[in-house]
Amino acid sequence: MGVEPFLTSSAVDCVIAQRLARRLCARCREPVEIEEEILAGMGFPFEHAPDELGFHKAAGCNFCGGTGYRGRLGIYELMEVTDNLKDMILRRAPTNELGRSAREEGMIRLRDDGLLKAAAGLTTIEEVLRTVVWVRGRGAKVLAGLCR
Ligand SMILES: [Zn+2]
Repeated sequence: MGVEPFLTSSAVDCVIAQRLARRLCARCREPVEIEEEILAGMGFPFEHAPDELGFHKAAGCNFCGGTGYRGRLGIYELMEVTDNLKDMILRRAPTNELGRSAREEGMIRLRDDGLLKAAAGLTTIEEVLRTVVWVRGRGAKVLAGLCR
C-alpha cells in the first residue's frame, strides 16, 4: 500500500477479519458423524479444538423455510498487534512469518474459528468451507468427502 511500516506498527492495535455463515436451524438440525480421515484433512485435532465434537447437518422444517438454516453467524479472526508483531512489521517481516508468530501468541485463525463453531453445532462444515478462504486442494477433498 506504500504505507511506512512505523505508521502501521504504531497506529494499529488489532486487525479483524470476519465472514458471515448461515446459522443452522436449531429446530431441525441433525447430529452427524464426520469420518476420521475427513477430520484429519481439516486439521483436527488442532489447538483450541474441543475433545467432544458436535457436528450437525442441515435438514429443513417449516420454521426455516425448508433450508435447514435460520439467521447468520459471524466467523472471526482477531490479530492483536503485540510488541513482538510491531517489531516484525518494522523489520518488514514476510506476511507468513507475521501469521505464524500471531498464531504462536494465541490468535485463532478464521478457519479454526469456523471449525470450532461447526464442531459446536452452530453451523455446518460446508458453510465454513464456503465462506472461509481455504487451501484449495485440501478444502476440495474435504467437500468431496462430505458430499458423498
Ligand atoms: Zn428448520
